[in-house]
Amino acid sequence: MGCRTANGADINAEPGVNPQTKDGRGNICPVTIILPTLAMMAKQGLEVIDDPYATEEDLINNFMNILDEKIHEAKDMLIERFEWICSQSPEAAKFMYENNTMMGYHPEEGIRSALKHGTIVIGQLGLAEALQILIGKDHTTPEGMDLAKRIEQLFKDRCAEFKQEYKLNFGVYYTPAENLCYTALKKFRLQYGIIPNVSDKDFFTNSMHVPVWHQLSPFDKIDIESQLTGYSSAGCITYVELDASAVHNTKALEQIVNYAMDKDIPYFAINVPSDTCLDCGYQGEINDKCPMCGSTNIQQLRRVTGYLTGNYTTAFNLGKQDEVHHRVKHVGVME
Ligand SMILES: [Zn+2]
Repeated sequence: MGCRTANGADINAEPGVNPQTKDGRGNICPVTIILPTLAMMAKQGLEVIDDPYATEEDLINNFMNILDEKIHEAKDMLIERFEWICSQSPEAAKFMYENNTMMGYHPEEGIRSALKHGTIVIGQLGLAEALQILIGKDHTTPEGMDLAKRIEQLFKDRCAEFKQEYKLNFGVYYTPAENLCYTALKKFRLQYGIIPNVSDKDFFTNSMHVPVWHQLSPFDKIDIESQLTGYSSAGCITYVELDASAVHNTKALEQIVNYAMDKDIPYFAINVPSDTCLDCGYQGEINDKCPMCGSTNIQQLRRVTGYLTGNYTTAFNLGKQDEVHHRVKHVGVME
């Protein structure tokens, strides 16, 4: 599971244990809903009826109904997977249970006694692209943000209902989709072709993130995403991309971090390129060749997803590489 994983209150907390306890718990399994595909299904549904009076609101309502159906299907899939995992022998992960790595294990009750404290999560991919299909703009606009909140509220409400009904820790998850961002896009394109602002790049935008190519200040990016992070109980992250010179400007870094904390961003990260010329040792952002010695023997260390990885051009799939190429630096000051 990704590093953004979070655990909401434990509905199965044992007497005397704070439900907010994080230690000994984790995400047990996720299911991710690919939002742009549902938006296309909603659109095609209306085209089939061929109603000349169909409005944008009809399209949105159609989408919300399909989304609700898929959230319920995701719930069924999660329960099936959870039951399957619970049917495994404790011998499969003996260390984990015997050492309370997963808390609450009671041998007489099987591993469910420990796993029921974890979360099972409904994730999402491509909110920005789904909004483009539905209303022709994403959540960097007020109309887009209104609809985004409606969508996230549905995820949140359903997970809260499932949690009570099944006594399992259902949660809303802003999926990392490190591979799915590409595989889902490829399938989408086979079915629907290239649609501007939707499938004209090699990836779908991560969860509810602002698309990486939007020119914004770091403060604007935080303003937008912080309006949606509160709907997620099972994990989210907000990144800003800064250029290499930012590492020498600790005052600016501090200001950005404080701003994110003030806006209640639960998990915040600043990405700066950290490339190294393997011939002369120059460090900074190096794109084609070293500005000092001209060498092309470069290690490009970028935070592409949650973790720092070696050379991103070999460590990630084509979708994620394309996303990195489309990323713009977030520049500008607080207004
Ligand atoms: Zn060099």
